Amino acid sequence: MIAMNTATILDLKKLLSTPKKIVIVPHKNPDGDAIGSSLGLYHFLKKTGHTANVIAPNDYPEFLKWIPGNEKVLIHDMDNVFSEDLISSADLIFTLDFNALHRCGQMGNPIANSKAIKIMIDHHQQPDSYADYVYSDVTMSSTCQMIYHFIEKMEGIDQIDIEIGEALYTGIMTDTASFRFPLTTSTTHKVIAYLIDIGVDKSKIHNAVYDTNSFGRLQLLGCAMNNLRFLENHSTAFICLTNKELDLHGFKKGDTEGLVNYGLSLKGVKLAAIFIENKQESIIKISFRSKDDFDVNKFARNHFNGGGHKNASGGRSELNLEDTVTKFTNILTNYELELNS
Ligand code: 5GP
Ligand code: MN
Repeated sequence: MIAMNTATILDLKKLLSTPKKIVIVPHKNPDGDAIGSSLGLYHFLKKTGHTANVIAPNDYPEFLKWIPGNEKVLIHDMDNVFSEDLISSADLIFTLDFNALHRCGQMGNPIANSKAIKIMIDHHQQPDSYADYVYSDVTMSSTCQMIYHFIEKMEGIDQIDIEIGEALYTGIMTDTASFRFPLTTSTTHKVIAYLIDIGVDKSKIHNAVYDTNSFGRLQLLGCAMNNLRFLENHSTAFICLTNKELDLHGFKKGDTEGLVNYGLSLKGVKLAAIFIENKQESIIKISFRSKDDFDVNKFARNHFNGGGHKNASGGRSELNLEDTVTKFTNILTNYELELNS
């Protein structure tokens, strides 16, 4: 953990005491925590006199597009010249919810080359050292919770309004799977309580994020459940989805989000995975989830070019779907003890 020490807090307060040109960057394929933290910070910085822009590396699911300020988010993939102008002329760049520059895809180089002061706020394991200021805390439920604490340290709690509150609530909710993952602490609940007290409508947010399934998405869920495999001897469950199956159900970005958790809900399962064929990028995108001490951050790093958190990580494979699954099941034999303990 790299907490913000007094010197860092003083430096950042000083930097933010005069109007700055600021760019805020979430990771590629941004999720609720990445977009929520970016927009929460965006509204705070605007309210306190800065020029701020959120630039996402690529597009994200519809169920995040109701968050206040969404219409102002730039997408680097669609607007790279303008985005890169903003990056190169920025005074400050906040990178949110990721720990290594390659996690923001094509934006990594422009950010590395910008003379802007870089500030990382993130809760993933093993942060890289590209930033000038690092606020990293792997015990945090979400980057959105860290933005709340950041604002607290900037003595700006009074600035938190419904717009900031809705954005931060969203990411805390999605990254904790609605307040159930182990990193949901009493402090997390105190932050949420504060947001509810200022008037954030929690039912509205739960509906906007979780109750907007398309028919195709539910059919895809059925297909995924049909494809679920249970390796009882290894306390492991996994799902595969082919490109053809995605097409058949009119796949849209975000449709596969959360599917991996169904595997983890099987009684006795310690490790769950989903393998999704991505024809465009010629890769298999993988998500891992685990219970208790089984460390899927290490597992993804060691075998599938990825990383993340102890109980939730992701990675990729350049083998085809069948060979990727064979590789996975072969690897599991090395983890028999851990998986069955
Ligand atoms: P998801 O499975 O929801 O895509 O990701 C779970 C967690 O693992 C997220 O916190 C995400 O940031 C991280 N993660 C997902 N894919 C990758 C990857 O390819 N590399 C790294 N380092 N982290 C990943
Ligand atoms: Mn996060």
